[in-house]
Amino acid sequence: MAKTLVYKFGGASVKDADAVKNLADILRNRLRKNPIIVVSAMGKTTNALEEILLHKFEGKDYSRNITILESFHLEICSKLFEEGHAVYAQVKNLIRQLEQELTKELNRENYDCFYDQVIGFGELLSSRIVMEYLCEQGSPVVWQDAREIIRTNSEFRFAKIDWELTKKNAQTYLVPLLDRFPVLTQGFIGADPQNRMTTLGREGSDFSAAILGVSLNAASVTIWKDVPGVLNADPKIFPNATLFEELDYKQAAEMTFYGASVIHPKTIKPLANAGIPLFVRSFVEPEAAGTKIHGLAQHHSIPTYVLKRNQILVSFAVKDFTFIEEKHIHQVYEVLQRLKLKVNMLQTAAISISIVIDSELFKLEQLITALKPFFEVRFNEDLELLTVLNVQEIDSELLEEYELYLEQQTRNTFQAVRKKRAE
Ligand code: ASP
Ligand code: MG
Repeated sequence: MAKTLVYKFGGASVKDADAVKNLADILRNRLRKNPIIVVSAMGKTTNALEEILLHKFEGKDYSRNITILESFHLEICSKLFEEGHAVYAQVKNLIRQLEQELTKELNRENYDCFYDQVIGFGELLSSRIVMEYLCEQGSPVVWQDAREIIRTNSEFRFAKIDWELTKKNAQTYLVPLLDRFPVLTQGFIGADPQNRMTTLGREGSDFSAAILGVSLNAASVTIWKDVPGVLNADPKIFPNATLFEELDYKQAAEMTFYGASVIHPKTIKPLANAGIPLFVRSFVEPEAAGTKIHGLAQHHSIPTYVLKRNQILVSFAVKDFTFIEEKHIHQVYEVLQRLKLKVNMLQTAAISISIVIDSELFKLEQLITALKPFFEVRFNEDLELLTVLNVQEIDSELLEEYELYLEQQTRNTFQAVRKKRAE
């Protein structure tokens, strides 16, 4: 049998009824080959669910948010299906299940677990709707619960994959199914050994597609996006960005490490190890070839711009006029690791350590509390981290309208932490 193809459609590609129709158009001829299709939650649904969780956590009423979420999905259905179609009941049923999950007790201790039981409903909803729509178009597509295949540990919100079990499940359950039908499943979610829902980190559906690609030994994985492919800068921020037709795994991974949001950072490594090519293509221009990421002997040296927003700069100064030593760095890193915070930039000076991290709920507060006894801690929020790869010198125009907080230049990489100056 020919090797499987994996197609992943993100939130923007299923954000409304027209988007779902467009997805069906893209898949029309491709369904014949029985691909596996991975979908994210529709549009901004995951953010809406996070908001509901926050309301719940703060003891506020979230019933209106639920109503909005339900109408959003039902409204999309009304443009795709006849009245009385089974999909309406399925959507309502999922919303009732979501409500029921939300009635359980939530506190700081169980926050991450609770989060995962709630946040994955976006994917459950979208996968139902998209599957039903594809069937309606005349293709028998099978809905598969990703939690039965993708197995993880219990690190809620950032669950780690049990590769062995996942591969086994894919081989046992998916392969025979894919012999006969296309299969549609959810990105982002999995299940832990106690069968509780887990998630793989925000925007993790790309990673799900890679996991399935590797587990099925797929021919390729294709991510359909609202951009033409991988560019040397985010075209929404840098209008002169140009497209890479090909990109080496390593260079693509490096871009995602620094914050290029075009692909989830965990996606590349498993595909690279398995030698499975990753295509990034436009769902707006599905005829265009997009970018092929695979193993290339030659690395390009085109300057590449990556911007990461919502950054916090935290500085830890020693209190007793000693100098920074390894033990201080250890101390800071230990806490960072415990809080699962990734350092996007690090700088050490004589008496202080500065780190740049993503802004995340509760985390800054926990970090400061843990390290306050040892250091004088200061921080700045709402910053941007600009990384430029393959440059020896930085174009000063890039920094003109900004206040600079931290700068670093290595042989090929420039980084700056900046904030737009108030007018
Ligand atoms: N729906 C999830 C999110 O928005 C996963 C994804 O889109 O990849 O984070
Ligand atoms: Mg998304």
